[in-house]
Amino acid sequence: MVVAEDRLKVGTAFLSGLLMQDPFYFLNNNFWSDGRLVLTFVLSLVIIVFLRYLVFAWLYKAAIEWLTKSSRNQFMGRQKQVRREIGWAFMSPVVFVVLASIGWWFYQQGFTRVYTDPSQYPLWYLIISPVQLLVLYETYYYWLHRWMHLPKVFRVVHKIHHESRYPTVFTSFAFHPLEAFLQLGFFPLIILVIPFHYFTLFIVFTLMSVSAVINHSGVEIFRSRFLLNHVISSTHHDWHHTCFNRNYGLYFTWWDKWMKTEKDDDAQVGPANTHHIHQRTSHSQGG
Ligand SMILES: [Zn+2]
Ligand SMILES: [Zn+2]
Repeated sequence: MVVAEDRLKVGTAFLSGLLMQDPFYFLNNNFWSDGRLVLTFVLSLVIIVFLRYLVFAWLYKAAIEWLTKSSRNQFMGRQKQVRREIGWAFMSPVVFVVLASIGWWFYQQGFTRVYTDPSQYPLWYLIISPVQLLVLYETYYYWLHRWMHLPKVFRVVHKIHHESRYPTVFTSFAFHPLEAFLQLGFFPLIILVIPFHYFTLFIVFTLMSVSAVINHSGVEIFRSRFLLNHVISSTHHDWHHTCFNRNYGLYFTWWDKWMKTEKDDDAQVGPANTHHIHQRTSHSQGG
């Protein structure tokens, strides 16, 4: 009875904090002094991040299917691959929330340079911050990704992601937890040295999720040669899943160009089953 009452108290406090009294109640120090409330919050956050991945991937799949009639995302004969991807993808929000909690603990201890008052730094800094963070992360990711392709590391860390030779929208979060940790571990560290408004972090995390779905969808939505040349999209990343030792970048093609690891033959056409948005007919499945 007491346990049930306690649970009710925790649940009510969580919901009232989240929905009614103050949606940012979890930023309050009182919130973090109650272990059960924190556990409820953390578990809820894992579920919210996971559901957001499922919903966004599904909506994007529905949109590109409607726009292109591409067979790539109808998952014919690939249900097993999709089930495996979704299974692994559940671990990524767990890792994300653990690292976010570590970042939050750093913030509470006053270790980070995260700021909440937008006027603390010039407006131009606030505006370029998301780009700055993406460029820094690009550099980190490119070299991490090259390291993860060393045979011994690949087998343990990165193989799970590459089991999808022809990725789907659901491949976007399908990583071994160790890989998710290595990828996202950058963020609790970078906030220790460079000032970012917390809204910048929110924008960048949202962009990361969106671009991961787009880049694994197998449908190229960019038509501009300029964009295809500088920004990584589905064609670029499809080549990485097909030939492994090319196109390691995440958002921008620059590191691949500088290090001569970019796929150059027909790089803007993509592997056989990459669908381009202007195409009207379906491509073959490809495997
Ligand atoms: Zn990938
Ligand atoms: Zn890879």
